[in-house]
Amino acid sequence: MAFTQEALPYAENALEPHIDAQTMNIHYGKHHAAYVTNLNKALEGSDAEKLNISIEDICKNISKYSAAVRNNGGGHFNHALFWKTMAPNAGGNPSGAMAEAINKKFGSFDKFKEAFSQAAMTRFGSGWAWLIVKKGGDVEVTSTPNQDNPLMDVAEAQGTPILGLDVWEHAYYLKYQNKRADYVSAFFNVVNWNYVSELYQKAK
Ligand code: MN
Repeated sequence: MAFTQEALPYAENALEPHIDAQTMNIHYGKHHAAYVTNLNKALEGSDAEKLNISIEDICKNISKYSAAVRNNGGGHFNHALFWKTMAPNAGGNPSGAMAEAINKKFGSFDKFKEAFSQAAMTRFGSGWAWLIVKKGGDVEVTSTPNQDNPLMDVAEAQGTPILGLDVWEHAYYLKYQNKRADYVSAFFNVVNWNYVSELYQKAK
């Protein structure tokens, strides 16, 4: 069974003005689509394909796979998560257990935003900033290069990613050009904390 792209959970213009429709169209329709196509090509005839290994399990054992699977498998997992952790009319603050875990680790939601923004800003070149759940249930902010993610056995900080921000230039350049900070700040207006909280509950 080849991997496929789930439909976007909202219209391409639904996250405007924070994420523009043209960027969504190219990012979802071309970049993510290419990761899926190339992942399937890289896995053709492999045991992983025959055994229907999930993308999560592939990531967890990524050191056993080729560079093409690492790049495109990471690209598929990361983008599939990214679309779902955003929503129109979202943003604001998390509540309940998610808010408690963030406060416990960072002191406040604003301090979390600072740490997450810092991770997104200091990731040199292409990569992702993450909020992850570690073994034991604590949350942490981290970042990875390229299309790596914290599920991967090669990641510096490992855990279950529950929120990720794509800081590749393809994710923001049309609207924000060199102003990554403005993109990072706009992202908080579209974070779907209800969904992120569900992922937190499952992961902890
Ligand atoms: Mn991307």
